[in-house]
Amino acid sequence: MIEVRRLIKSFGGLDVLRGIDLTLEKGNVLVVIGPSGSGKSTLLRCLNVLETPTSGTVAVGGARLDFRPGAKPRQADVLALRRRSGMVFQAYHLFPHFTALQNVMEGQVTVKRMPKAEAKDKALRLLAKVGLADKADAYPHQLSGGQQQRVGIARAMSIDPELLLFDEPTSALDPELVREVLKVIRELAEEGRTMMIVTHEMKFAREVADRIVLLDGGVIVEEGSPEQLFERPREERTRRFLSLLM
Ligand code: ADP
Ligand code: MG
Repeated sequence: MIEVRRLIKSFGGLDVLRGIDLTLEKGNVLVVIGPSGSGKSTLLRCLNVLETPTSGTVAVGGARLDFRPGAKPRQADVLALRRRSGMVFQAYHLFPHFTALQNVMEGQVTVKRMPKAEAKDKALRLLAKVGLADKADAYPHQLSGGQQQRVGIARAMSIDPELLLFDEPTSALDPELVREVLKVIRELAEEGRTMMIVTHEMKFAREVADRIVLLDGGVIVEEGSPEQLFERPREERTRRFLSLLM
């Protein structure tokens, strides 16, 4: 379903991803953990082609793109890939001058060219799903961080992506608001959505993940089931990283 092969991303002389190989089956949840600066956000951004990989292959569902150094990918191929994944950002990135409803409608109208009435019905359904039926007309500044992030999740789902990408979705939230966002993500996992989640919430990671990878220095240090990785890490670097969090 999702395949990443030999993915490399460099910024100028800085090699941020140094050959990533990943496979994710439909309906599974992959959690990515790792220290700050290890390349987690860059990896998600490459999957969604918010960053253009330097080289390697990214395949999501039926869309597959081979990147080559110095060769600009065709825009049509980039869009085909981008439409298959929805991204939820740490800092929400909602349009401040749009209501919650308009924020969720936006992608459907511009990316999917859906008629407005249909987009509105669907946006209202998605807002209800994330527990915000009564906030459709609120602007982001009238919402708590947890509510804004739930709008962000509804927005990511609005284009019916095959893959949902979450980049530290609760890191910007006050502790008491974390739970409401994790609950929504947990429900999506139970529905069988295919998801890749970067998080530092280890208890949540353990519950929700089918597989966990530890990224460090732009390479996958270790990959395994939550039980294996948390209880019987094979690598010293994994042990060290986990011990810092305990
Ligand atoms: P993480 O999400 O694991 O904290 P990032 O993927 O954000 O790590 O960043 C990994 C490294 O790549 C960092 O050293 C960061 O400074 C660098 N980096 C990320 N984005 C850019 C960019 N657009 N230009 C230059 N360097 C970048
Ligand atoms: Mg990051």
